Amino acid sequence: MPDPHVSGLSVPELLELDRRHVWHPYGPMPGRQEPLVVESASGVRLRLAGTGTELIDGMSSWWSAIHGYNHPALNEAARDQLGRMSHVMFGGLTHEPAVRLAKRLVDMSPEGLEHVFLADSGSVSVEVAVKMCLQHWRSLGRPGKQRLLTWRGGYHGDTWQPMSVCDPEGGMHELWQGVLQRQVFADPPPVAYEESYADQLRELIERHADELAAVIVEPVVQGAGGMRFHSPAYLRVLREACDAHDVLLVFDEIATGFGRTGTLFAAEHAGVTPDVMCVGKALTGGYMTMAATLCTARVADGISRGEVPVLAHGPTFMGNPLAAAVACASIDLLLGQGWQTEVKRVETGLREGLAPAAELPGVRDVRVLGAIGVVQLDHEIDMSAATRAAVREGVWLRPFRDLVYTMPPYVTGDADLARITAAVCAAAREG
Ligand SMILES: *Cc1c(COP(=O)(O)O)cnc(C)c1O
Repeated sequence: MPDPHVSGLSVPELLELDRRHVWHPYGPMPGRQEPLVVESASGVRLRLAGTGTELIDGMSSWWSAIHGYNHPALNEAARDQLGRMSHVMFGGLTHEPAVRLAKRLVDMSPEGLEHVFLADSGSVSVEVAVKMCLQHWRSLGRPGKQRLLTWRGGYHGDTWQPMSVCDPEGGMHELWQGVLQRQVFADPPPVAYEESYADQLRELIERHADELAAVIVEPVVQGAGGMRFHSPAYLRVLREACDAHDVLLVFDEIATGFGRTGTLFAAEHAGVTPDVMCVGKALTGGYMTMAATLCTARVADGISRGEVPVLAHGPTFMGNPLAAAVACASIDLLLGQGWQTEVKRVETGLREGLAPAAELPGVRDVRVLGAIGVVQLDHEIDMSAATRAAVREGVWLRPFRDLVYTMPPYVTGDADLARITAAVCAAAREG
């Protein structure tokens, strides 16, 4: 009898077809590591096909499912929008979900960001951000300003421009040195404020000012590039140096946005408004792919004054009504339910639960900020052993390089949080 949970395919059949035909993130073809088959997800739990095993999700599906899965309010928003239209083109047409979403983003983001480009993924929103910055200077008669500056250890996505500002060494895009645009790199930002490092940033920006269109960084937390935290004071240094030398400042808040670091956007830790800001990941509460690039009036005005006064970018699924409607509902949920208290509670749970990891052999560092908990080892992790250890504890984690980390949904209860931190410790011990 066919397994009813996977629509006619047994779990082994499904895995075999998956291995043969389906590419997974950063994976080889055919696949070498067997993925787990998820049948459904609800609250903070993933339910596996076949066995019906439930795993507590410590990953929020790569930072995105901040309210958990199968949420009644988000389901309702999707269903309601589905009854009207799931999509219409955005060229020459507009609709309430997109307009409402843009207005919400402008209202909730740092003062001064006024215009919103709706993109279909984080990487595309970074491409758009880069295009905005280069075009701004081109329109103002300074086409030589076309390079980017960033600090090492960053991650900005997998399409070409974002790849060029990912960490060039040890990162996922090392292979492409020589193909990628050569950008200007500062050292990775130290955890604490150091005047000498601030001077390095100032000096690099000044030295390259004539060729720099923008500085682009992940504020306060570098995510997929190594889960590192740094002093928000560096963001003020960047703001001042960029202003002094006619360089635009882009914050990639795709991972940090929507409360993850304890402020709505990480830029708020420094009280800084960037010229351009990218958001994505948690934008739709993890329901659908959508991202956005916000910019100031100054950036838009620069573009409008050019020989080509338009931003030539327009994805087919731009402003997708379904995604926009769910994004609005997700933001309403976030702002309506005291997110700060929830994130604070998760932060406390992570601090308490991960403290014992510091005593484990092979652990180099344990760090927590907002709803992000990281255990860094002094060696490359055995990913399958670490994943197995977490699954045995009933938790889904996805360690990488020398890191076991979690950024759980904000709605994770205290008992589930304790299980997540126990699983992180187990993965660190056995990985
Ligand atoms: C995930 C991520 C991206 C890329 O977003 P995608 O939706 O995966 O294209 C870019 N920047 C940061 C900081 C990210 O965390």
